Formats: sequence, C-alpha cells, structure tokens
Amino acid sequence: MSFKREGQINKFMFENYDLSLRRFWMIKAYTIASGKGGTGKTTVTANLGTALAQHGRETCIVDTDVGMANLGLVLGLAETPITLHEVLAGTASIRDAMYEGPYGLKVVPCGLSLQGFQNANPERLTDVMCDLTDRCEFLLLDAPAGIGTDGVIPLTVADEVLLVVNPEISSIVDALKIKILTETVGGTIGGAILNRAILEETEMSRRKIEKTLDVSIIDTVPEDANVRRAAAAKTPVVVGAPGSESSKAFRRIAAKLAGIPVEAEPHKVQEGFVERFARALFRREP
Ligand code: ADP
Ligand code: MG
Repeated sequence: MSFKREGQINKFMFENYDLSLRRFWMIKAYTIASGKGGTGKTTVTANLGTALAQHGRETCIVDTDVGMANLGLVLGLAETPITLHEVLAGTASIRDAMYEGPYGLKVVPCGLSLQGFQNANPERLTDVMCDLTDRCEFLLLDAPAGIGTDGVIPLTVADEVLLVVNPEISSIVDALKIKILTETVGGTIGGAILNRAILEETEMSRRKIEKTLDVSIIDTVPEDANVRRAAAAKTPVVVGAPGSESSKAFRRIAAKLAGIPVEAEPHKVQEGFVERFARALFRREP
C-alpha cells in the first residue's frame, strides 16, 4: 500500500515478525474504480478475485462502496450480520466481517442500511487495509462511483488503481476525472479494463480510449449475457459459465496480475457444493 506506506509497513513488520519476507512483499492491493456507476466495477472485482483464488492466490475482495454496496449481493452474501460498515464504525474487527466465497476467496461485504452508512467512517479504511495485509496476497477494493470522501480514500490506499471503462464517451470522461484525481492524491493508475465491449462501429476504439486517457488497456471483457445471469444466480461468471468469453477475459486479466503465463489453466481446485450448484444453474453456456 502506498498511503503512509513506510510507517505502516514498519509497524506491520514488527508486529508480524514471524511472517516470511516473500509472503510479505507479495501483497498487492488494487482499487477497481471508474467514476461512472454501472461500468462493471463490482463485476470485475468479484470475477478477478475469484479467478485469482482459482489460481491458488490468497485473495480478499472488499466492498468499499459504503453508500451503495452490492458486492455481497452478487455473491449471495446479502444477509451477513457484520460488514465493513461495522468495521468502519469501529464496532467490529475485519476478521468478523470476512466471509468465504468461491475457491476460498475472502469477501468483506458492506452493509445495505442507511444507518450503517451514517456510522461508517471511511477514513478508517487505511487501518483496515493494514489489518488485511497479513491475511492475503491480493487485495481488491470495489470502489464507489463518484468523487466523495468515500470515493477518494480507496484511490489513495491501493498500490494501483484499475479503471473500468465502457466504450462510450461518458464513461471515458468520468474515468479521466478519476485518473486525474488519483494522481492528485498521490495514487497510481495501473491500467484500464475495457468492459462491455460489443465491437460495434459506434463504439470508441481501444486505441482512441488509450489515447484519450493516456492509460493502457490491460484487456477487453465483452458484453456477455452470462454476466447478468451469473449476477442473478449470485455467483461470479467465472464459476457459473467458465467457458464464456467474459470468463476467459477475467482469467486472462487475473493471470496478468498474478504474473502467471496467460495460457496456464488455474490449479485444479476441488469444486465445492456451492460451485457445483452455481454451475448447475447455468444451462446455456456458449
Ligand atoms: P458498477 O459496480 O460499476 O456499478 P456492476 O458491476 O454492478 O457495475 O455492473 C452493472 C450492470 O452491468 C450489472 O447488471 C452487471 O451484471 C452488468 N454487467 C457488467 N459487466 C458486464 C458484461 N461484461 N456483460 C454484460 N453485463 C455486464
Ligand atoms: Mg458496484
């Protein structure tokens, strides 16, 4: 994490002297941001997190959209009693707000109530991040849309911010604002993910988007009805429809983040009941 990095790392190292250095330095935190709502931040977070877990990487995803949380909803974790709201309110520890997703993915959902939102202090997120560093190799933060305080903090605490953009001008303009804001507050843009591409002539081209943002596109995720069906079935598309084009794209991006050769298939992880059940809900995989 880059925010107040040195002080926090030293504190962390003294308190966790039994951890190996390799494991410590492997920790990488990404914030998935966009500016505009509905571009696919939550979808990208859930699927990249699951794909990283499938690759055997200890991964934790956190819903930092404290006002309009929905990461828990798309993963079937809507009824969790303790969430990031309570952690940010100072009444619970991150350990209590961590739930298990597919392939051992750790998920920290956020609550849905307005009261919970009012009690949450987004500035506590930095401490939460420190508490998470000894529990995983990859941290993915699902950022809120917009540029309020709760939106800015996730941009500062990650190693890299990944912009999720759609191939349309409004999305690119909003992403540009997030890029400028990230750089203003000392964060780093790691690249963009072009989501919901339908490869129509009316769409902005990948080259034009890269030029406008001055950010390189890591990969393109196509518009895919399996994504919506997966959300309805409360499972990531990489679990529900692993052969779909969107799943292949999410696995490619996860492999790039983890430094794994793109062709490599994820470890053969034993499928649990949840994964088998989720897959059974899908009948029309292309
Ligand atoms: P955000 O978190 O940025 O607001 P979501 O991840 O909630 O966006 O996505 C908004 C909607 O778009 C959801 O209904 C989701 O299922 C759908 N969606 C996201 N990515 C895709 C895709 N590649 N293909 C089809 N639908 C998608
Ligand atoms: Mg969202």
